[in-house]
This record gives sequence, structure tokens and C-alpha cells, in this order.
Amino acid sequence: MKTARDIAKHVNSGGSAVEIVKDALDRIQSDTSNAFRETFDKSALASAAEIDRRVAAGDSAGPLAGVPVAIKDNICTTEGRTSCGSKMLEDYRSPFDATVVTRLQEAGAVVVGKVNCDEFAMGSSTETCHFGAVKNPADPSRVPGGSSGGSAAAVAAGLVPVALGSDTGGSIRQPAAFCGVTGFKPSYGQVSRWGLVAFASSLDQIGPFTADSADAALVFGVLRGGDPNDGTCDPAPAKPCQIEPAELKGMRIGIPAQATTNGNSESVSNMLKQVRQQLTDAGAELVDIDLSLLDQGISTYYVIATAEASSNLARFDGIRYGHRAHAPGAGPDELMALSRSEGFGAEVRRRILLGTYVLSAGYYDAYYNRALKIRRMIRDEYLKAFTSCDVLLSPTTPSTAFELGGITDPVEMYLCDRYTVGANIAGIPGVSIPFGDDDQSLPLGLQLLAAPFADEALLNTAAAIEAVRDQAGITGARNA
Ligand code: GLN
Repeated sequence: MKTARDIAKHVNSGGSAVEIVKDALDRIQSDTSNAFRETFDKSALASAAEIDRRVAAGDSAGPLAGVPVAIKDNICTTEGRTSCGSKMLEDYRSPFDATVVTRLQEAGAVVVGKVNCDEFAMGSSTETCHFGAVKNPADPSRVPGGSSGGSAAAVAAGLVPVALGSDTGGSIRQPAAFCGVTGFKPSYGQVSRWGLVAFASSLDQIGPFTADSADAALVFGVLRGGDPNDGTCDPAPAKPCQIEPAELKGMRIGIPAQATTNGNSESVSNMLKQVRQQLTDAGAELVDIDLSLLDQGISTYYVIATAEASSNLARFDGIRYGHRAHAPGAGPDELMALSRSEGFGAEVRRRILLGTYVLSAGYYDAYYNRALKIRRMIRDEYLKAFTSCDVLLSPTTPSTAFELGGITDPVEMYLCDRYTVGANIAGIPGVSIPFGDDDQSLPLGLQLLAAPFADEALLNTAAAIEAVRDQAGITGARNA
């Protein structure tokens, strides 16, 4: 049983959740990808036993009954630690569960542990994780992408059918593409971030990694809905999300010119050609879209995201929160400086410096304010695009997974998110689905974007494209 829906069906009709969870814990035990930071064996087995009791008593155990899930290390759980991949929070234990964790549990899911990520979700390779890099299950010499690399690897290696990640500029979709699984970033405001350790609050979203979009819809239906603890979350009450594959015939699928000419690797270009052909054969209308601002995305993102990060991460001072340097006799300023220098890794320090710079008097207008204006223009350009097409299609990434240690230049690393940051800047939903392999058997990912709050329509379109892919015998999910 590889999908969450199959597991839930099995458990709700009397199959043992304890067996399912035990199997998952065994697989995690023998995993070599370093996806997991820690597992919650005791509490997971106890929750599974409780679900079995509920089913035996004739109650429904929920739409995710007995489904083992992994949680990214920057999402708060009372069980275990919430370290954000950082020495700063190495032993931090949250006094509360994130709303998404509570919702999963109320739906019958069993949280089996926490998974590794780039430090404070800053990165595209999971190499900045203080607890060691994560390896790509498709090829252990390669990165799984990031920052939610542990979440992607955990699903791709078949350790769990569902993992949660966070996506500020691509951290769900890019690792999903690199590992060969589905990664869904909902519209900004669809899923509560209460309990997500903030990186860039105007961009952050939580979303699921799954084998396919039907499972993504199932989990999304459980996660979404208003939360009084997150004022940015749409107050609409929670409701299930039922997948109904869209009719591709007559659908207008937009392809941004800038995503086909932008230095994609040969295998990525070939994938696009193949997709075009198949969608045309299926009766879709392919529309050329001009996203002239696509190339401004990375610079805009790295001004706004670092500015917000410099503010959000100010709380980790070694006094109220986080790692405290051993500095007898030091005053508060010195203690704070020492603690932050020791607790944060190089990439996080770089982001804080950049963010503080763009917010400083004298540079604020030239950088931060300007980035906000371009942000609005980018959003407008996407909204305009959606007046002439139903969804936008592009590669998720310009290339497949690179070697561990293969990218050392930060700007080169940032450019991995060329196609993904736009969705965060504009607040729109995006999904990456696996679509074949390159000539080295590494997964390729296809990204679909839709208008704000068209999340269901987006997943329905993804499901239709998955069906076309499967019918053509093209490799899909990697959840072996
Ligand atoms: N890779 C991007 C960054 O490093 C995006 C990270 C994310 O989405 N959390 O900022």
C-alpha cells in the first residue's frame, strides 16, 4: 500500500494501523538517506493502537486513518524536538503543536517523526542542515533538493506516504522534483502557519509531499481552513478536497516563453517537448504566455525573503530563545553576538546580513521598497496571464538533482528556484509532479501554477496530466 488513501481505506475497514506504523518505523530504521532527524516510536505506536480501538468500536478513524506522516523540522510538535536544522535550536522542544499537526492527528494520521531540512529552511539542497546533508534516494551521491529535502526523500524512499514541508520560494516543489514525488504549495492563506517557525512570513506556506495529486488533495482537505491563531489564513471553515481529474480537452494551458528558453538542461527541454505533444494530443490548447518579469523573481525574492528573515530571526538571541554561548562575565550584547555567531550557520548569517542591509536607513527605498513594487508587478503579471489560460506549465527546475557539494556559489544555488519563487511572490498555488527521468535516471519535475485560491482546480489538472503520463508509460512517482 503506497498511497495514503489506500492505507486509510484499509484501516477504516479493519486493517491494523499498528502494523502499518510498525512497518514504516522499520523502514525508517534501515534508511540511509538521513531523511529523519528523529522518530517517535512510542507515541506513534500508541496513536496507531488507539485508531485500531476506534475502528474496532465501530467509529470512523478519519480520512487519514493510520497514515504515517513525517513533519519537517521547522514545524512545531510537542513530541521530540523542533530544531529547524540548526544548532541554534538543537534541543528546542515546542510547548504546542502546529495547527497542521493537530489537524493531521484529528484526521487519524500518525506522526512518526521529524525530517531534516536546510537550516531555517534556507537553501535548495538540504546541505545547510546542522544534522548532516540528506541524500537523494534516486541517487545517493546527489542532493534531494531543499529546503524540505528530508520530507521529499522520506516519501521518495517509501518510508512514509505523506510528509509535510514548507515552501517560501520553492522548498516543497523543488525537492519534490529532484526526488520524483508530488509536492504541493497551496495558495497563501489556505493553510494555517501557526506553529511554523517563520522564515519570511509574507511568503511561507505549508504543504504536503505525496505520491500523487489525489493524495495531495486528500491531505490538503485536512489541512486547510480558518485558524484563529493565524490572521493571514482564510477564515473559511475546513472542508475536504475531492480530486476529480480535469477535462484536458479545451483546457487552456499557458507556457511562459521565459521558462522554455532560460538555460534549461537538455533533458528538461526534452521533457517540455514531450509534455507539449501529449497535451496537444489530449486536446488541450497550449497558449504562449509572456512572463517578462520572470527573471526579476530571484532578485525580488532575495530582497524580500532576507528582509523578513532578518526580522523573524532576531528572536534567537541566546537569552529568550536558542543556543547560548558559554561566556562567563559577558554582558547581554556580547552574549547575544557570541550566541548568534555560534548558533547560526554560514547561509543563515549571510541571509541575516543581506536582510539587515536592505532594510537599513539609506538603502530601504533602493532595495526593500523597490522589491515590494516589483512584487506587485509580478503578481499583476501572473493575474493577467490567468485571464488567457487556466493553468501555467513550466519545468519545476532548470535541471535535475546535482551532486552533493556540486554547487558552492550561493547565487548559483539561488538560481535553482528560478521557476518556483514566482508562486510565493504572487501568493498563488503551485504543484510539482514527476514527469519521467533524464538520461541518468534522475527524476524530472513538471510545475503547474494556478490563480489565487484555485487550488482544487490546480490539483484536478495535475491529476489529469498524471493520467496522460501514466498512459504513455512515462515514469511517475518514486515512492518505491
Ligand atoms: N531555496 C530558497 C531559499 O533558499 C527557498 C527556500 C524555501 O522555500 N524555504 O530561500
